[in-house]
Amino acid sequence: MDSWWRLGENDGYHGNELAVNQITCPFCLEQGNYKLAHHREKSKPNSQKILNFDTYECGNCKGYVLVLWSASEFGSGFHNYHVLPWPLRIDTYPNYWPESVGRFWIQAKRNLIQENWDAASLMARSALQAAIRDSKAEGNNLKQEIEYLAREGILPPIMKEWSDALRELGNVSAHPLPDQPPTNPQDASDIVNFLDFLLEYLYTLPHRINEYRKRGDKK
Ligand SMILES: [Zn+2]
Repeated sequence: MDSWWRLGENDGYHGNELAVNQITCPFCLEQGNYKLAHHREKSKPNSQKILNFDTYECGNCKGYVLVLWSASEFGSGFHNYHVLPWPLRIDTYPNYWPESVGRFWIQAKRNLIQENWDAASLMARSALQAAIRDSKAEGNNLKQEIEYLAREGILPPIMKEWSDALRELGNVSAHPLPDQPPTNPQDASDIVNFLDFLLEYLYTLPHRINEYRKRGDKK
């Protein structure tokens, strides 16, 4: 996004009103139990565009969240928002990801937060494997399947390198040697970060392009 005035114009959530029911309380993790405590707005000159600066109070724990949100100016039926603070615990993944990918990804993230480095890299490898299998890759093992996707042009060369690194690190955690040293925290963190990019590339980018096409019946 190149300007805050573009918030809600390109992507986001359905509807012209803030989907407050989707917002999880960062303190007690209850979802969508909010009461508006304060509202301010800023209008764009010579335009219908409005940025809303809202404070919501959680009905459960009485904590507050600040929500910056805006509906699309030209009535495309979208809005988008940013919330501060956000829950540090991760409990959802985008609904257009395959379930198995999302499940392992959540566990990889949670294990990072809890500093379980071996488990984080193992779960990242499982998420990778689920994503690769979902891409209809052919091969007898993960290595061959990654090579297949690279040959077919589904994975660009740099993603193939990352996927190989992710696979190798996860392999070590999955099949440890008797005196296997623990996974390096920075390695585990990098690997989960690579996974984020890979899933962005495999799922989020095509999803956003699809949403873009649907908006204007573009072909
Ligand atoms: Zn709360």
